[in-house]
Amino acid sequence: TENKRRKPNWLRVKLPVGPEYAKVRKLVDKNKLHTICESGNCPNMGECWGAGTATFMILGNVCTRSCSFCAVATGRPPEYDLEEPKRVAEAIKTMGVKHAVITSVNRDELKDRGAEIWYQTVVQTKQLSPETTIETLIPDVKGNWEALYRMIDAGQEVVSHNVETVKELYRPVRPQAKYPRSLEELKRIKEYGKRSKSGAMLGLGETDDQVFQLMDDLAEVGLDILTLGQYLQPTKRHHEVIEYVHPDKFEFFKEEGLKRGIKYVESGPLVRSSYHAERHVHV
Ligand code: SF4
Ligand code: SF4
Repeated sequence: TENKRRKPNWLRVKLPVGPEYAKVRKLVDKNKLHTICESGNCPNMGECWGAGTATFMILGNVCTRSCSFCAVATGRPPEYDLEEPKRVAEAIKTMGVKHAVITSVNRDELKDRGAEIWYQTVVQTKQLSPETTIETLIPDVKGNWEALYRMIDAGQEVVSHNVETVKELYRPVRPQAKYPRSLEELKRIKEYGKRSKSGAMLGLGETDDQVFQLMDDLAEVGLDILTLGQYLQPTKRHHEVIEYVHPDKFEFFKEEGLKRGIKYVESGPLVRSSYHAERHVHV
């Protein structure tokens, strides 16, 4: 019904304002950096940026893929920028970030999937800010496991790769991705000795049973940390919100995830994969 589709009040959030927010924004703009907070119109910008945290997006802001939930522009990305790792590392140092989340667009056209830039960004950040802990939210490497190992061998504390949705919705939601391939990526991350993390959005039309299956599969590959949050439509051209999932339901899924052996589950309408990320370093 129309009512079910109206934004419920638990999703109303404060606008991002305040001096800390303004400071982060200025730094991000000055260094020609991109953040997933802005591209994704994240509802937590007030809270995270106010606390001096942001998720940096590397390898440009044009993606080779066209996921139906995502606000990042699709197209042929320009040549990649060898200076980017240095700019990200310097911004993180200037901002005094304690826990940095770094993510990227997909660069399927690059042989190494952008692994070298990934590696350099983490290494240079650690050099300039040895106390800073890092989560890398990496893309689907399309089965290029050499590229995966290069990306995750740079000393980061957490490696995440988002499944985004249940298996049954991959075709409409993540057309260029494959469910078993993402699971394998998570399995390899774990086997490599990294703390593994994944996230999915609810409200895209999935059923409860499909969410249970997803959590079974994630537990099976030894996942350490799972985030579940409400999908919000970035523009009218994006995938429709099929349901605003009730906070109690999120709580229920959290219990179900923990029961299955996933060590840490963060589940709620406003949860994003980088939300409260600093807590995931010690899981
Ligand atoms: Fe940025 Fe993540 Fe915070 Fe959203 S939850 S504002 S994407 S750091
Ligand atoms: Fe957006 Fe990532 Fe999909 Fe690219 S691969 S369209 S950045 S979700």
